[in-house]
Amino acid sequence: MPDSNIAKSQSTEAQTDYEAIIIGAGVCGIYQMKRLKDLGVSATVLDSAGDLGGTWYWNRYPGARFDSESYTYGYSFSRELLDEWHWKERFSSQPENLRYLNYVADKFDLRRHMQFNVKVEAAHFDEDQSIWRLKLSDGRTLSCRFMVMGLGLLSQPTMPRVEGVDDFKGESFHTYYWPQEPVDLKGKKVGIIGTGATAIQVIAEIGDKVGELTVFQRRPNWSAPLNNSEISDAEMADIRKRYDEIFANCAKSPGGFEHQPDRRGFWDVSREERIALWDRLYDEPGFGIWLQNFREIFTDEDANAEISEYIADRIRRRVKDPVVAEKLIPKDHGFGVQRVPLETNYFEVYNRDNVELVDISETPLERITEKGIKTSEREFEFDIIIYATGFDAITGAYDHIDIRGVGGQTLREKWFEGPQTYLGMMVHGFPNMLMPAGPQSGSASSNYPRGIEIGVNWCTDFMEHIWENGIERADATDAAEERWTAHVTKMYSTMLMRKAKSWFTGYNSNVDGHEAGRVRYFVYNGGAPKYVTRINEVAGNDYEGIALTGERPTDPRMALTQIGDAAE
Ligand code: NAP
Repeated sequence: MPDSNIAKSQSTEAQTDYEAIIIGAGVCGIYQMKRLKDLGVSATVLDSAGDLGGTWYWNRYPGARFDSESYTYGYSFSRELLDEWHWKERFSSQPENLRYLNYVADKFDLRRHMQFNVKVEAAHFDEDQSIWRLKLSDGRTLSCRFMVMGLGLLSQPTMPRVEGVDDFKGESFHTYYWPQEPVDLKGKKVGIIGTGATAIQVIAEIGDKVGELTVFQRRPNWSAPLNNSEISDAEMADIRKRYDEIFANCAKSPGGFEHQPDRRGFWDVSREERIALWDRLYDEPGFGIWLQNFREIFTDEDANAEISEYIADRIRRRVKDPVVAEKLIPKDHGFGVQRVPLETNYFEVYNRDNVELVDISETPLERITEKGIKTSEREFEFDIIIYATGFDAITGAYDHIDIRGVGGQTLREKWFEGPQTYLGMMVHGFPNMLMPAGPQSGSASSNYPRGIEIGVNWCTDFMEHIWENGIERADATDAAEERWTAHVTKMYSTMLMRKAKSWFTGYNSNVDGHEAGRVRYFVYNGGAPKYVTRINEVAGNDYEGIALTGERPTDPRMALTQIGDAAE
């Protein structure tokens, strides 16, 4: 870090009172800081990591890459940025993604507003002053009017609840904490637990690099080819010209992608036409086979059974051993009702002699031993164990901070039976706490940055409204929160997804209370266009459903610009 940056970040650390504190320096925190900096508001970003990037800082496992098209994942807010950045691959890899986020932070001079290696341990609402007081792991206490949560949806990794994890004498890590220094895999005996989206990327990437690879699978996942490719200079030039159209397409689609659902009725076209569509989509890049499909696959058991059988056949064609192929085909849920991982030669890996699939639904894990992993059948010896066992998703990162609102109520208690929010962005009893990508928000179920920009823009406009009107405190009403939570829950009633055991429905076998899933419903499922319409209506109706109370004499944008200037 250049000296000038050190001096500036030290001046940031000396400050204790802010208008806004953003927790998390990932995709959300970076953009939120940019918006507040442009408004001249005194704000800082806190992150427990050693640097910015969030998901893309942590997940350094081999094979980690976007499964959103890179040019739909990047920020859309700056034409200059769009013109400058060259995505090298259609689905860009983790090192490049982290470089991109650093480039954005440096270009807009955001880094000096960020503090790293600092964990927020507690955040208590001071009812007398209507501010949040944050207790940090380095002993400091900071205060702010607005606490903006950029915590990430998948930032609280979970280890399997199996005995002996600490007994293993070799190297072991959760994929989220993949070491920053290179891991020597050559010739090693490696065991991996899990077959979710993360494991599917790792397994495909390391199968031909390790000595032996043993995959411990409890439930298989449906997955489909990523079909990645490089982006040439000419293609990038064309993408730059089409950015307006690309982002407009994303804004029109339920998931924030360019992929639009096929509007024909599943049963209105012949089976031959359906197969022709699937043959095409399976070989096209990205989520087309999931999101450009007939809408009935998400709601109609028979339609879903037909696409599932189609994908199962594709798997059978790719895996030589029919017994292994059947084990890789999910039997407990249909295609697309859980988040579909995208893969590159995942199924072909099982044709290699050095790769073994162990079905732990038949021979359960018993314990981790000093030497490896013991199932009910035998003990496997390893040099390295990789835990690709997922996350305490969406609410986990909130649960790990002692957040207390009005009357000392903890958020953890309030959400014990599942999240309750207003628009996924506010929580009754936790005033001035904003969640641009909270549980039950549109971001949680869409191409993340597309949702993030929507959430951050709404939250920023809302703060501006509060400043302009000299308001002290903003709190969602109980009634508005109940209505929103009921609305989010009701949207699942027609979706097959409600039956799936996935993080979308709050399932995680390693977290108390989440073992059965359906801890209310975690994500808004109405699609981005409907979500945007609703949140804009709320803003247009004087922020209906939010109690705006108290008076503040000065507009912090003006007062605080001077503090910001002084720090430079
Ligand atoms: P995940 O989908 O929750 O998968 C966790 C895996 O670990 C599952 O196979 C699970 O089996 C297994 N597991 C957990 N606890 C276990 C235990 N005690 N014993 C045996 N197996 C156990 O987590 P993930 O793969 O990290 O993916 C999470 C999400 O991250 C994805 O859905 C996706 O949204 C995101 N992601 C995105 C990308 C990308 O953008 N390219 C890449 C990776 C991940 P069960 O199914 O039986 O529980």
